[in-house]
Order: sequence, then C-alpha cells, then structure tokens
Amino acid sequence: MLCATHAAAVERALVRATSRLVSTLGGVCRRWPDIGTGADVARTTACATLLAASALFAAPVLQLPRSFTLPEGAIPLKHTVELTIDPARDTFDGWMRIQVDLAKPTAIVWVNAHDITPHETVVSVNGRILPALATPLGGEFLAIQTAEPIGPGPATLSIRYRGRLSDKALLGPYRRKVEGAWYVYTTFTPIEARRAFPCFDEPHFKTPWEISIRVPRNDTAFSNADQIETLEEPGGVKLIRFAPTEVLPAELVAFAVGPFDTYPGPDYHSVIDGRAIPMRVITAKGHASEARAAVEATAAVLPRLEAYTGVAYPFPKLEHVALPEEQFTAVENAGMITYRAKSLLFEPSAETPANLRALRLLEAHEIGHHWFGDLVTQADWDDTWLSEGFATWISDKVLDQELAPERRHLEAIASRERIMNFDNSSRARPVRRPATSREASTGIYHRVIYDKGAAVLTMLEGWLGEDNFRGGVRDYLAGHRFANATTDDLAASLRAASGVDPSAVMHAFLDKTGVPSVRGDVRCARERVTLHLEQVRASVIPVCWKTDGSSRDCTVLDAPSRDVVLASCPAWLYLNAGGTGYYRTAWSAEQIAALSLDRLTPAERLTLVFDLRAQKNDRAAAHAELVKLVSDPEPAVMRAAQAGLDSEKAPAQNSSH
Ligand SMILES: [Zn+2]
Repeated sequence: MLCATHAAAVERALVRATSRLVSTLGGVCRRWPDIGTGADVARTTACATLLAASALFAAPVLQLPRSFTLPEGAIPLKHTVELTIDPARDTFDGWMRIQVDLAKPTAIVWVNAHDITPHETVVSVNGRILPALATPLGGEFLAIQTAEPIGPGPATLSIRYRGRLSDKALLGPYRRKVEGAWYVYTTFTPIEARRAFPCFDEPHFKTPWEISIRVPRNDTAFSNADQIETLEEPGGVKLIRFAPTEVLPAELVAFAVGPFDTYPGPDYHSVIDGRAIPMRVITAKGHASEARAAVEATAAVLPRLEAYTGVAYPFPKLEHVALPEEQFTAVENAGMITYRAKSLLFEPSAETPANLRALRLLEAHEIGHHWFGDLVTQADWDDTWLSEGFATWISDKVLDQELAPERRHLEAIASRERIMNFDNSSRARPVRRPATSREASTGIYHRVIYDKGAAVLTMLEGWLGEDNFRGGVRDYLAGHRFANATTDDLAASLRAASGVDPSAVMHAFLDKTGVPSVRGDVRCARERVTLHLEQVRASVIPVCWKTDGSSRDCTVLDAPSRDVVLASCPAWLYLNAGGTGYYRTAWSAEQIAALSLDRLTPAERLTLVFDLRAQKNDRAAAHAELVKLVSDPEPAVMRAAQAGLDSEKAPAQNSSH
C-alpha cells in the first residue's frame, strides 16, 4: 500500500519512472529542462501524464463496462484517502489510494467515479511506480490504464483528483451554510460515494477505510472511525487522521467538516461483552443543548438490540450527527449516523412523549442497521430488504418491548395494512428487484422494501416460532459478520435453526407483488374433521390457524387447495393466528358470526378488522362485526374499526354531489 507518509517517496519514484520513460521515448518532455531532477514535481507529473498518454495511444479505444456494475477481475482490499476540504469553497481535493488484488493481467482497472476530475494517477506494482491514465467514462466509471499489463496479484491505484461540493445537492459530499457558517456533510447511500472519491462503490466490496481530512484550523472533522491524530500544518490548516475502519461498503462511509458542537453522552457499556462504547451527538454550532433526548434514546434502545441479536454493538464508537437537510430521514453510516436535525434534536419544551417515542423508533432503526446492513451487508442492491426490512422489523420489536406482551405487533400490523394496499395496487413492485442503472438505483429505497420486507419477517417469525426465528437470525449474523449475505443465506440460517426450509415462501413473497387471499372451511364428518384451505392466487403461504379446540397450528399452502385433518370439530376458526401472516382471510357470514372475539389477541382482532374492511362478499356480516369491534378494549382496534365504518359511508356521501 501507499500510506500518507510515503507520499514524498511516491513523488520521487514517479520522477525516476518519468525520467526512464523520457530517456526511452525521447523528446517529448525536453522542453522542461529540469525533468528528472526532482526540482519541479508538478511539471514532472504533467509530463508523466503526457508520456503515459503517448505510450497508450495505441491502446484499444476504451469500451464502457457492459453493465452498471464494475467488471470482474479487481477486488479492492483497502481504500486510503486524504481529503483537503474548506467548506467555504465549492471544490475539494482528494488523494485516493486503493489496494487491489487483480485476478489476471490487465492494462485497465475500472473503479467508480462520478463528477470527479482526476489530475494525476500512478499504479504501484511490486515496488514499481507506473504512470497511468485515469479517464472518466459513462458518468459512473474511471478507467485506469497503464502502458503495460499489470497483475495478477496486488497493486495500488493512486489517484489525485478534484471533486465538487454543491450547496444544492443532498447526495454525495455537499455543503450548507448554517447560521452563517459553512459545513460539509455526506450522504453516500446507495451509489453516491463515487462523488467523493474514486472507489469500488458496490455493497459487496467491503474494505477497511483509512481517512484523513485537512480542514481550516477553526473547523473540525468527523468520520466513521475515531480521530487518532491532528497535525498542525502551515497555511492555517490542520490534518485530522482517523483510525482505519472495520470493513465497510463505500455507501456506509461518511465524513463531516465544520465548526461543530458536540454533546457528549455517557459511554455505553455493552450488555454482551461489557465493552465501553463512546457515544455523542454532533450538531451545528450552538445546538448541542438540544441533543439530550437523542442520548437518552440510545441508552434505551441499544441494550435491547444487543439482547435480541446476542452480538455486542459491532463498532468502536457511536455518533449521531444532525444535518440541516437530509435526502433521507437518517442514514446508518457505521459509527456515524446522520439524521435530519429536526428528527434528532429537540428543545426541552418539544420533548413530548410522541416526539421521544418517534426518536427511539428512529434510533432503533438506524442503530439496528449496525447489525443488519453494516455488520452483515446485502451482497447486491436487489437484497436491500435484508437491511431495510430487518431495521424496520427490529425497531418495531424494540419499541414493542415498552408495551404489555398482549399489545405487541399492533404497529407492525398497521404498517402491513398500508403496504398491503399498495401491494394490491397497479403501482406495486416486488421487494427484490435488481438495480441496473442510476435511474433504477433511485428505487432501491422504495417503501415496499421496508414495510413488506418487515411484514415478511414478521410472518416468518410467526410461522417458524419466535425462538427458532431468533436462532436463525443469530446464525445469519454469526455466519456473515463483517461480510455479505443474500436472501438465500438468510433462508439457510432459518432452516438450520427451525428444521423448516422457508426458501419457497420467502421467494414467493419477496420476488412477486400482490397479497394472497386464503379461505378455509371446516368439514365435520363423523369419521374425520377436515380443514379445507383454498387460495386465490398461486403463492406459497404459511397459514397458521387457531380454533376453540386448539391454540395454534400451521401448514404451507403451496397448491390451489389443501385438506388438513383436525383433531375435533371446532365451534369457530381463525385463519391468521397471531395476526402475523401477510395474507387476507376471506370470511363467510357464518364464520364471522361464530367467532369468539374475546378469545382473539389484539393483534388478531386488528388483523380481523383489516380483513373485514377489505372484504367484498358478505358485506352485511362484515359491517355488523365492525360495529362490534368499535367497542374493542384495544384503542388501535377500535380506531381501525371506526375508520372502516367511516369509509363505508364515504362513497355514499360523495355520490350525492
Ligand atoms: Zn434504514
């Protein structure tokens, strides 16, 4: 690798390499008489680029990679970057060095870059420094060409470049003026790290990142890792060096520069390994006093996340950074979560129960990502639900722990209902969908990935059982920690823990749109009792039921119909036990009339309300049941039933106009 202290050596080596090229190619650089003396590095560098270009002129014309992703053949091992940032300026300078492992000899290595101007590139191989040409191409790529093939084996790409700091954009690195002072912030997810540096900007490329940032003396800088050194430099600047990070995908790297204030929280002591984890909130100048609630929310949710996963918080520190604006509400950059300030900071008078609950939910989601997304990262964008679905699901679970056990899942069921309505609409799209272009990448964070992803996890947990599911999740985290995973990896872990293979169910719900509907009839004959199940769509549905005679039983409905033998003839049947299934139950008038509402949990009654609201047939029976449910002791059920009755009236009112 080429670390910062070797910079001068690299420049000297570049001069030597250039001199050798001069002597062999001759003439090209003779108009610079001091070439090769080391007296004028800038001129030498310009000359090296010229020479590299002349040596490469016979190379084949560059062809854009055929896909949106980088061609195979180069694996990044480490990104080391030094940035020079003055938030008052609209450009910044960078020096990126990427250690790569090359699978075979090549004269072109591709990396990602967007809106970056390279001005000096060399490649180091086996101690040799080779001049190289860096050519931006297609808006997403930088082709780094050498005159002769390099590899197989290790090489280091060293690129000096200039990037832009927009005061309008909210993606990539950008700057904003807050109360008279300029700040620089970043939002890289999903594909915007390439605006800050040439890099391998895909989720499966996880490397350590060693970051240094040169800033004006009165500013400071933050990043994913701890500051380890600050070097005062001439010209009113200082260089802040950060420790190398754990392996991270580019999209989870972050930095911030400006005259920040900090609100120090108490160290968090892991409930798993006792380690002390420093925690604080970083705000624009003058706003630290609004950060108390954020620190208290962390203290509330972090132990619950550790307890569920069985894995200690995976990174050395935890910082919450308030941004004046955010493309998203918050982004889970490892160790340095960025939030829209109005979602993170609260004046004491605004610390209402509703605001504090929303803050705990948001932090539970973002800190939850440190296991689901940061520690274990989806291998490709099509599995982003493994981050967002899990973070959504576990934040509901963490907040549910503040409620009596019988009141759990109600928030998740309300979210599921909203996403079911979308999933049945003409605008529906599947949870898993590849991102094959910059345009398609904007759909990576569609709400279906969050809410249907979370609803599928709730269904899997209900079907496989809470203990089996948690065992599978822990196996998944252990098996892919500081690495990547796919939907099939999660399925394999759940199968190992439960003995049941959920692959077909997962793909049926994640790869397709739509909400299945299930109908069940109990046929009581003297010799045997049968539950006859039917589905309308072709899906693979784990159906769980309860009756007055049995607490709970499940089957997988993977055909148009299936008969299940019951032990006795029940007085009533409820076809979505626990209310966890992602499907509608089609109720008959007789089944509704037979139901014992007081034997159903609040989650089951809320699911029933939503089924009755959606039901097309037997409307009179559905209406009568909703009227009963308006008196439900659970406020969430009562409100949903009332909303259902209100919506029955709405079309009649409209038709009178
Ligand atoms: Zn998220």
